Amino acid sequence: MDHKDYMRRALELAAQAGAEGDVPVGCVIVRDGAIVGEGRNRREENGDATAHAELEAIRDACRRLGSWRLHRCTMYVTLEPCPMCAGGIINARVDTVRYGTRDDKAGACGSVLNLFEERFNHHPRLYRGPLERECQEILQDFFQGLREDGAGENG
Ligand SMILES: [Zn+2]
Repeated sequence: MDHKDYMRRALELAAQAGAEGDVPVGCVIVRDGAIVGEGRNRREENGDATAHAELEAIRDACRRLGSWRLHRCTMYVTLEPCPMCAGGIINARVDTVRYGTRDDKAGACGSVLNLFEERFNHHPRLYRGPLERECQEILQDFFQGLREDGAGENG
């Protein structure tokens, strides 16, 4: 599997979130070529402001690996992490983050600010892509669908 395969899996999880009425964001965590954690946005499903894809994937990986330290792990997430999730990534010592598309309103990995460049004790490597266009489109399609349904956007 390569970078695109992992991001494709994150996109599948994002699509599941969208089907449940949540903003479609998905996340996988990979170590040594194997997916060790998966998550998707469940904010609406759980009625929980903290139920973001990245935190769910971090919890899943910590449980499966039996450690809070996610050394040698790469996170693939379809949308640029917010401050809460960037904080979780730092706390979990995730080595590398690859995000699909920018979040100009809430992104904490270069858009609004970049938490990974601040004076914290861990600095994940950061890349944009692969599949940036697909990651953008799944969000655009979701919000367009909401508008067509006449439902309010909550982003
Ligand atoms: Zn987040």
